Amino acid sequence: MASNILEVRNLSVQVEGRKILKNVSFEIAEGETVCLFGPNGAGKSTLLYTLIGYPGYQIVSGEIIFKGKVINDLPVNERANMGFGIAFQHPPKLIGVKLKDLLNLAKNGTSEEEIEELAKRLKMTEFLDRDVNFGFSGGEMKRAEILQLASLKPDLLLLDEPDSGVDVENVELLGKEIQKLLEGRSGLIITHIGYILNFIKADRAIVLYDGKIACQGDPFKILKDIKDKGYKACLECSKC
Ligand code: ADP
Ligand code: MG
Repeated sequence: MASNILEVRNLSVQVEGRKILKNVSFEIAEGETVCLFGPNGAGKSTLLYTLIGYPGYQIVSGEIIFKGKVINDLPVNERANMGFGIAFQHPPKLIGVKLKDLLNLAKNGTSEEEIEELAKRLKMTEFLDRDVNFGFSGGEMKRAEILQLASLKPDLLLLDEPDSGVDVENVELLGKEIQKLLEGRSGLIITHIGYILNFIKADRAIVLYDGKIACQGDPFKILKDIKDKGYKACLECSKC
């Protein structure tokens, strides 16, 4: 059996004095892709921010174990060096930083030719000389995020709604590129509508509801249940 790249044990997190995540436990095996579903405000982005060690997300109790090591107290840069990579739901604008320069800074052995090829595939060639995300449309920002991850090649990809606000053609483009990147790597992907799942091999899904894990199982079955019966159905799921 594959070992776990990530284990989250009884994790409770507060932000600005408010408890958002409550006793969350789950794991991701090496090479596994897990979907994270949940209604708005459930705490999905909070979970991802906490995993990467973003300042302000205070662990009240519990542990985050990455590659067998407790990383609760590691700063964000050390976690990135260990192999975490994130595509933000709302990517920050980096005024004065060209996309090309950011890609060259965080490229993990990716050659300049490969970056050019990746940019071409993601329709980002003419964005390379622009400031990161400045004046980019929603879909362009999502493509720029995946371009950065494709260059960084992290061992665990955390993707926060890579398909939200993206048109049908670009979801396909992004989904195929994400799937290529996931080959031999692990992922945790937040999606609402699940468009991206048409292009990604997701092994398992977990549902976060009001800061707690409500359910887990087959991604397509859970997505169908959510679409048919709403998120509340996850709370009544007899298998969890
Ligand atoms: P999701 O990604 O599932 O939609 P979030 O993790 O973004 O949800 O937010 C979960 C809850 O935590 C929301 O009620 C949100 O308002 C709150 N929250 C997140 N970040 C902050 C913050 N910096 N200050 C106060 N509340 C926050
Ligand atoms: Mg969110």
